[in-house]
Amino acid sequence: MNTPRIAIVGAGISGICMAVALQRAGFTDFTLYEKADEYGGTWRDNSYPGLVCDVPSRYYQFRFAMNPEWSHLYSAGPEIKDYLVGVAREHGLRRRTRFGTEVTGAVFDGDGWQLTTSDGVTRRVDFVLCATGFLHHPSRPDIPGLDEFGGAVMHSARWRHDVELTGKRVGVIGTGSTGTQLVSALAGTVPEVVLFQRTPQWILPTVNRPYTRVSKRLYSLIPALGALPYWFNRAAFAVFSQGLVHPGRVRRFIQWVVERNLRSVKDPELRRKLTPDYQAMCKRLVVSDRFYRAVQRPDVTLVTEGIDHAEKRGVVTTDGRLHELDILVLATGFDSHAFMRPMAITGLDGRTLDQAWEQGPRAFEGVMMPDFPNLFMLVGPHSPFANHPLTAVAEAQSARIVGWLRRWQAGEFATVAPTRAATDRYNARMRAAAPSTVWTTGCTSWYLGKDGLPELWPWTPGRYEKLIRSAPDPVDYDLNQRVESRK
Ligand code: NAP
Repeated sequence: MNTPRIAIVGAGISGICMAVALQRAGFTDFTLYEKADEYGGTWRDNSYPGLVCDVPSRYYQFRFAMNPEWSHLYSAGPEIKDYLVGVAREHGLRRRTRFGTEVTGAVFDGDGWQLTTSDGVTRRVDFVLCATGFLHHPSRPDIPGLDEFGGAVMHSARWRHDVELTGKRVGVIGTGSTGTQLVSALAGTVPEVVLFQRTPQWILPTVNRPYTRVSKRLYSLIPALGALPYWFNRAAFAVFSQGLVHPGRVRRFIQWVVERNLRSVKDPELRRKLTPDYQAMCKRLVVSDRFYRAVQRPDVTLVTEGIDHAEKRGVVTTDGRLHELDILVLATGFDSHAFMRPMAITGLDGRTLDQAWEQGPRAFEGVMMPDFPNLFMLVGPHSPFANHPLTAVAEAQSARIVGWLRRWQAGEFATVAPTRAATDRYNARMRAAAPSTVWTTGCTSWYLGKDGLPELWPWTPGRYEKLIRSAPDPVDYDLNQRVESRK
């Protein structure tokens, strides 16, 4: 039986998940390419103070690697990174991983791919599995004079641990999940925090508790116990996701909760400034038990005037006021639409990824594209990712990809790609469903594509999982046999 040669690009959550799935299915001829020098993806890149995953840890983990040792209900970033590194180690992935090796290009050659890496080497593989993530390329705001700022400037996803915070006045630009976590953590540890807010956020309250030694011991002794919180959280998220994709009771309830939470801000003027003019969950919902407390502290200033420019001493807002700072943190998010870029990918008949995605990233069922045979994506365009754990999405998509590899091995085809018609139909159905989602109710967010529509799965994650775990419908695919010359 033929063994497919496989390249996985990226060793974050989805790359690790894919590699383990391959190994468990008996596919051993694969290489995991990672341009950095460690596993973890976004959990490796982000190391800012206060980084916590706002999805419960007992749900934000792989079902095949339940960790009994989570320290908290919501665990900190470094703990999640260590978990991912540990999963890779336990599954012996290091010997199959090439760190410090960026895949720069991939060209389809008729029944496989010529892959070029940053070391100038070209290698032929039968399948390319892209696990490159979407919160990967930091988005740097275009603020005039930023380069003239005399203090340290850093993007939240490139935290400079060489910069001493003690005694420093810190400015934070951005009020997404990152900015709010940063401000919550920095407040009280530095003399002054200045938060530059362009758009206020609704905040879902929560309580983060540590797991006791006894409970961790129980989870260790009876591994099956881990399934209880996993499935409990999954059920809770299934209810929550109803509010994301349909107007109705759940949406109204979440709105009521966040409005009530906002009432904990005592000063009416501050409360007014923190009140969004759009519905809760339209932007990715921020979950925090600390942000409102932090922002009410006397050493935290909320600035709502727009940023005009930066200069040597700090940031000047449109009212002409200079906010003197020592450190400026850009918590300004990511270019989430970049997906597999800057890799140069060329598919059938010389069609490039940039050409295929001229109107924005489009895929079939989140994992494949027409004209790019034998190329699969993990957590690709329109996968379900709003407040939903990517671990679960990656597990379901890996299973689908393994299914295709098995069929290749059985000789059913040499190359497979979805048809353009199936992809167009699929994307049209998603476009038609988009207006019911909360993401189109009147806010801007990184979820929205060029056409103003969300690049997210517009139904519940459960419905996606059912689809991706079902057998692919043959009419949706072009299956080809091996090109004669390669036999
Ligand atoms: P984000 O949600 O895209 O937020 C970026 C923030 O920067 C927004 O408040 C935005 O304002 C502001 N901004 C951007 N450019 C600006 C400019 N030129 N001037 C002023 N403000 C500007 O980014 P993020 O907070 O890094 O979060 C990105 C995603 O990462 C999240 O949505 C989430 O999926 C993930 N994340 C998850 C966790 C977790 O706990 N699981 C934690 C952190 C991040 P506007 O709103 O006006 O555009």
